[in-house]
Amino acid sequence: MKRTTAAIMASMITGASLLRARRHASTGAVGVVGTRLQTWIPPAPRSALTRLVAAMWASPVTLAGLLAGAGSATRPRFVDGIVLFAPARGITGLLIRRRGFTAAGLGHVVIALEEPSASLLAHELAHVRQAERLGPFMAPAYLALLAVHGYRHHPMERAARLAAERHATRR
Ligand SMILES: [Zn+2]
Repeated sequence: MKRTTAAIMASMITGASLLRARRHASTGAVGVVGTRLQTWIPPAPRSALTRLVAAMWASPVTLAGLLAGAGSATRPRFVDGIVLFAPARGITGLLIRRRGFTAAGLGHVVIALEEPSASLLAHELAHVRQAERLGPFMAPAYLALLAVHGYRHHPMERAARLAAERHATRR
């Protein structure tokens, strides 16, 4: 437990320092990684074993999500292999609304202000898949890319938007 907290703290500190180096590396290695990431929608783990490994690997982020969910004044439920808190109220709901978002994904946890639409869920599930691959590196990677690209052009957000679009056209 202590180690998990330390990992989250380390992620936040790394993220914060990277945030300070804002718009420093829009070209070069970070730029190349960004271009690759904008279509990065990893497939869901198929077997029970890979699902378990993915859940464990993403667990530090999931834990942060559960803590945030605990402040959403909503009972959690299982949807599509994730823990969904919706409609989020309380301090967490307020924070999400204040930031102008409709939902937040943290590991295997999704917190949404309202009952998520199918396309919003597809968007958030793309982040779940990303978190399954990056595990404890999800937060520092996300924050580093946020510092460089901003939210709208964030490559992992582009990938999630693409996932939502694909979901919409599939129906
Ligand atoms: Zn997103």
